[in-house]
Amino acid sequence: MSGSLPTVRTVAELRRVVDAWQRAGERAALVPTMGALHRGHLALVERGRALCPRVVASLFVNPTQFGPNEDFSRYPRDEAKDAALLAGVGCDLLYAPDVAEMYPEGFATTVDPGPIAARQCGPFRLGHFAGVATVVTKLLLQSRADVALFGEKDFQQLQVIRRVARDLDIPAAIEGVPTVRETSGLALSSRNVYLTPEQRAVAPALYRTLRETARRIEAGDGVAAATADGLETLQRAGFTSVDYLDVADAETLGPLTRLDRPGRILAAVWLGKTRLIDNIAVVPAR
Ligand code: AMP
Repeated sequence: MSGSLPTVRTVAELRRVVDAWQRAGERAALVPTMGALHRGHLALVERGRALCPRVVASLFVNPTQFGPNEDFSRYPRDEAKDAALLAGVGCDLLYAPDVAEMYPEGFATTVDPGPIAARQCGPFRLGHFAGVATVVTKLLLQSRADVALFGEKDFQQLQVIRRVARDLDIPAAIEGVPTVRETSGLALSSRNVYLTPEQRAVAPALYRTLRETARRIEAGDGVAAATADGLETLQRAGFTSVDYLDVADAETLGPLTRLDRPGRILAAVWLGKTRLIDNIAVVPAR
């Protein structure tokens, strides 16, 4: 037990609990997380509860989705606090495997999500989406959940997982959940704890710029001009650097040069050693 939340650490134990629910006619929702939970994660659990009588959250800081120079070792970890937060929103079970349970001796298979992982964050985080696709595939097959919930905050990740679930005939329904934000507009993220007060003051400019870019494109401005202006705004806003600002087809995340179908604007910026991502819908007039 962890707090008042039942906790399992092996695939066998996880399956025993989820199988018992399903045999009793109760559908199960899975919420995969890396811990350091905030209201964004809890919104996923709440949506899971609205869709299914049972919810299991997983907590696993997945080493294979971090690059060699990324923050795997300093990523915030506090399982007891996370368990208490999950129990508080009615989560039924925590699945917290260790690395050896997830990747036993001899583990060798990788799920390659193909072109959807090649743009936006792809070139900046080589191997990241293969790491995500592999661990999420494992979590879906380990739990055999009926539904799995993912945040729109990580929009490319959400679309990668939709693609993988469809392509590999994984039966879980994949549900996206809108991004939970601070009143400043800054998307909640476990990595926001790294920000200094000065960096926190700059951070909301990311979402502000995405909104302004979406507004202009929806009002009929050209995608290329609005993107160039948005990029310049980000570059002047006080970020340490800007990885990209991209307007993409909302489903495939391929290039979108005219707003003739639903789009998504995605961006990644740095504040010191902290990388922030965000995105927004851009919708053609009907
Ligand atoms: P993480 O623990 O950062 O890997 O995130 C676990 C899940 O929570 C992912 O599906 C994220 O997209 C989702 N998530 C993270 N931040 C937010 C947020 N601010 N709003 C909604 N979902 C979020």
